[in-house]
Amino acid sequence: MEEASLFSLPEGMRVEHIQITEHGLVIAVEASHPTSCCPLCAQISQSIKTHYRRVVRDAPCTGRQIQLVLTVRKFYCRNPSCSRKVFTERLPTFVEPWARMTIRCCQQITSIGLATCGKGGARLAARLGIQTTRPTILRRIMGLPDVSGRSVVYLGIDDFAFRRGYRFGTILVNLESHRVVDLLPDRRKETAARWMYHQPDLAVISRDRGGEYASAAREGAPQAIQCADRFHVVKNLTEAVQVLLARCQAEILAEKKPDEPCQEKQNKPIISIEAWRPPEPAHVEKVRLARRAGRYARYQQVVELSQQGIATKVIAGRVGMSDRTVRDWLKQGAFPEAQKRRKKPSSFDPFAASVLKRWQEGEHNGLALWQEIKNQGYTGTDRSVYRYLKTLKQAEVRASLNPERIEKYAATTAIWLFVRDPKQLDAVEREDLTTFCQASVPLKKAYDLLQDFLSLVHKREGQRLDAWLAKVAESELPELQSFAAGVEKDKDAVQAGLTWAVNNGMVEGHVTKLKLLKRTMYGRAGFALLRQRVLHAV
Ligand SMILES: [Zn+2]
Repeated sequence: MEEASLFSLPEGMRVEHIQITEHGLVIAVEASHPTSCCPLCAQISQSIKTHYRRVVRDAPCTGRQIQLVLTVRKFYCRNPSCSRKVFTERLPTFVEPWARMTIRCCQQITSIGLATCGKGGARLAARLGIQTTRPTILRRIMGLPDVSGRSVVYLGIDDFAFRRGYRFGTILVNLESHRVVDLLPDRRKETAARWMYHQPDLAVISRDRGGEYASAAREGAPQAIQCADRFHVVKNLTEAVQVLLARCQAEILAEKKPDEPCQEKQNKPIISIEAWRPPEPAHVEKVRLARRAGRYARYQQVVELSQQGIATKVIAGRVGMSDRTVRDWLKQGAFPEAQKRRKKPSSFDPFAASVLKRWQEGEHNGLALWQEIKNQGYTGTDRSVYRYLKTLKQAEVRASLNPERIEKYAATTAIWLFVRDPKQLDAVEREDLTTFCQASVPLKKAYDLLQDFLSLVHKREGQRLDAWLAKVAESELPELQSFAAGVEKDKDAVQAGLTWAVNNGMVEGHVTKLKLLKRTMYGRAGFALLRQRVLHAV
């Protein structure tokens, strides 16, 4: 029948007639399949006993409510060994026995419920032509099958806050299917361990560095390999560097204060390490001096004309300069020396402080100093080193830098200079970073260790972890050493986390989605409803 396919009715159903009422459409449908299957013994029967009517609501059509008046039948079961003598015809994919709504209509209500929540859902459904109530919607969601029992091999586990910093739950994600597999109402070890115990296939558990989930995994799934989540490991290291940064920053700024010039003693000019630059080659200096002479001549001309009472506009025209520059020059009242160009940042800069320190300790051999910084990661030539030493001989270079560069950062923002890929920093940020590294040898050391660790994480070179920890042990940086001590306690998991592809990034994403869901619901059903909505989220 054409109408039957128009309304997507299952096979064997025939539309008898359609009536348009003020509420929508009333469609009379008759089941016409000659046989039906006994629900108990599954034997096919063609002996019809009676016909009877059922009225069910269907999904709306073009915004109209649809009511189906179904004429279905009762059959005799002819199987002598079956205890059921009479059974009602089943329409398994269309409507359940005794239901007052078709399955597809139920599904629409459930989808609306999952996407919204009880109250708003009922309003939206009404707009779409489905009459329902908030309790019905909630009942539909709560009635969805429990999918949490499915087997998980790669598990990600993390906590989330019901209310920020107040009450926490646990989220469990299947890292293969990328789906949330369960929510737990708290983040206690026992609860998580019990859940894991019922998951015999668990092979890998990716978790944060909190001890609770680690002991839960040890208890509930001792067979699984534990991976400390990379994100959390990096976060811990970053926090350690931040503490160190705050300490060094305070030290640098404290040292800065008594900056009385004691020039006479050594009779050498004082240069801050930041202002240090290689001496100008003779030909560059010649050009610069020539340019300065030209400027100076023009300056004198401007002053002379101005003294004759000539207007700046006219002067500007005569000397071929802009009106504004003439005015600026006259306002300054002295010859404005050209601003020296900014020094070109060089790969040697971050090592200047370390070389200075060694120089002051008595190491004056350029080759040896070059070798030393090469071991620290310097990739440039020895030329920069020799140029720098030449300056050190002629002037007193001080590790006292422009404190504004350092002062303008809080430790919480400065850490971003340290964490980010140096290639991503802009010119000013790169100079600021260099300033930090020049100002403090421990900071430079910490920077190198942090970047080395980040590259290890990025390239998943977990096998380098031991070597890295050894470097930290030698570093004399207590903040990093205490981070390293934490890693040692959980080393197998950290190493696995740094080596394996598995990570909790996906879990973090689900926590964000969960926060959104939480915001759209309140009230009675609480955790149980949240759990259903998360587990069945599309
Ligand atoms: Zn039967």
